[in-house]
Amino acid sequence: MNTKIWLSSPHMGGNEQKYVNEAFDANWVAPLGPNVDGFEKDLESFLNTDVKVAALSAGTAALHLALIECGVVYGDEVICQSMTFSASANPIAYCGATPVFVDSEKDTWNMCPVALEEAVKDRIAKGKEPKAIIVVHLYGMPAKMNEITAIAEKYKIPIIEDAAEALGSTYKDKACGTFGRFGVLSFNGNKIITTSGGGALVCHTQEDKDKAVFLSTQARDNAPHYQHSHIGYNYRMSNIVAGIGRGQMEVLANRVEARRSMNKFYQDLFADIEGVTVFVEPSTDYYSNHWLSAIIVDATITGKTREDLRLALLEDNIESRPLWKPMHMQPVFADAPYYGSDIAEKLFDNGLCLPSGSNLTNEERERIAKKIKQVFSK
Ligand SMILES: *Cc1c(COP(=O)(O)O)cnc(C)c1O
Repeated sequence: MNTKIWLSSPHMGGNEQKYVNEAFDANWVAPLGPNVDGFEKDLESFLNTDVKVAALSAGTAALHLALIECGVVYGDEVICQSMTFSASANPIAYCGATPVFVDSEKDTWNMCPVALEEAVKDRIAKGKEPKAIIVVHLYGMPAKMNEITAIAEKYKIPIIEDAAEALGSTYKDKACGTFGRFGVLSFNGNKIITTSGGGALVCHTQEDKDKAVFLSTQARDNAPHYQHSHIGYNYRMSNIVAGIGRGQMEVLANRVEARRSMNKFYQDLFADIEGVTVFVEPSTDYYSNHWLSAIIVDATITGKTREDLRLALLEDNIESRPLWKPMHMQPVFADAPYYGSDIAEKLFDNGLCLPSGSNLTNEERERIAKKIKQVFSK
């Protein structure tokens, strides 16, 4: 069997262990310390906007705290992009609220502004003003933030930007994760940089950040004994994990470059395969980190489905994956309202994510290219 080619695997830079060792040497083995502060500062300067970042245990935790800070409580409704990973929507349920799912549009595969406004109007007409809008930058592709922000402002609904896949992406030269009232980042093992597991909440005021840190460390009131006036969570990032993050921040720009070069590799590869389109930016306003490169296969032209391709790659121990299955099609969210048509559904039917890691070798690229050419030549 050939060695496995992963969709996206961790890629260390070299200095991660130095920061981790510093934490051990100083006995800062806790959910606070100099690496946590340093990692937050690194992220703030990378995002290049006046933001305050709180390092947390996961992107999912960041989404949960963002919803709480937006005042989401039991019985509320929250609008969420349907085509996404379940982690975007699950925290809505943690709050006892109901997700209202919205379809994608074809250019960015992200939230359709037209369907969004339809959803907002209809929920308001039904007597339920949505408490927040969760928009996602799928696979690193920025969503149509101009249009979405305009709708959010018109109806005065805060945006929570799920930028878990989009660290290093920009829209009109502004970093993804800095547009909404809150932005969410993830450093899970398969993301563009990883801390083995972790996340961050991007805030615009010190007050919002302080509240996130307070809630993420069990909501302790200011008293010498343990006193609590709020329900707290154990969501803070540890100083060991943050050390890995500091090392990864040193190479983030290279990782973005490498992922973008993988996307270019697929553009070249599929240039002469009719019926397959590579997912690229719709205009120069958009700059994707291309966390994952994805394609749409038109089986009526190629004679092969995305599933044919996936299975052929698997035979050669090459991992690929269908696009995210939309949340409104998931059994667990069967009762949630949905607005839009079948854009997300069609993308799911015909789309495939291909190996996109920043650490793929030329040899591995050749193996991928050979297999793909084989599939589409028959
Ligand atoms: C990875 C991911 C998350 C969750 O982040 P974790 O750090 O794994 O909790 C949320 N949303 C999207 C779109 C993701 O890809």
